Amino acid sequence: MKVLKTIEELQNVRKSITSTVGFVPTMGALHDGHISLIKQARNENDIVIVSIFVNPTQFLPTEDLDAYPRKDEADKRICEMCKVDYVFMPEISTMYTSEEVLIKAPNKSYILEGRTRPGHFDGVLQIVLKLFGLTQPTNAYFGKKDAQQLSLITQMVRNLFLPINIIPCEIIREADGLAMSSRNVYLNEVQRKDSLLICKSLYTAASLIGKNELNSNVLKQRMNDVMSTLDVEYIAIVDRDFNEIENIELKNSIILVVARFGNTRLLDNIWV
Ligand code: AMP
Repeated sequence: MKVLKTIEELQNVRKSITSTVGFVPTMGALHDGHISLIKQARNENDIVIVSIFVNPTQFLPTEDLDAYPRKDEADKRICEMCKVDYVFMPEISTMYTSEEVLIKAPNKSYILEGRTRPGHFDGVLQIVLKLFGLTQPTNAYFGKKDAQQLSLITQMVRNLFLPINIIPCEIIREADGLAMSSRNVYLNEVQRKDSLLICKSLYTAASLIGKNELNSNVLKQRMNDVMSTLDVEYIAIVDRDFNEIENIELKNSIILVVARFGNTRLLDNIWV
């Protein structure tokens, strides 16, 4: 495995590859969620590139950019174990030479995450587009956990005619159900226990849907009941294009939850 730091190194490597490239962009502090993306990329491509870059443009000024967990050495060991070919770990000054915003997320993205975090998706699309330009992947792997991000990246690739397959990957959870996230380390013991109500509310909705309860308001109410002791920021029921829907459309719906634990926001969702 080779660790690359500069644009030139990555471009030279990319020029030398003539077979399929699987790309997994991450912000590091790798956990089993990231590892599942990397393993899938390893299975489906000749060459695997992982990027580790805490992207400043997707953090709001009030957010946790400085505190965001950084575990470079452990991350490199994990990539090595997963038989990654190249890890790209650039400095901020390598990725950004000016403060110009190169791409704007569509107005329609200013709902849910985009509403709470205005500008967040501009930063996400900007860095992903830069990384796509450098790695020119055949296949790029993204978690369904960040469902709105996945949807916007899929649209960007379609609208810019980029010859890249976006591969959605299943959400990986702790044994007790909490969706894995680099931010879970911020939770204290009580918050960690309470956080289980998020997935419990999603499982409750899934079970009701199994009994043919498809009304969004009813499902949201029942989920709210399960999470009555939490600081719930939103529950949303949308179709796969992120339009709010009054009734679940089977195989075309996503139920999303965000709850706050102090300064930590936890996201989770199920695709039904
Ligand atoms: P991040 O490092 O948080 O930017 O995440 C990098 C990629 O890993 C994104 O595509 C995430 O959606 C994905 N990811 C994060 N957590 C999980 C998880 N628990 N299960 C599956 N994918 C995940």
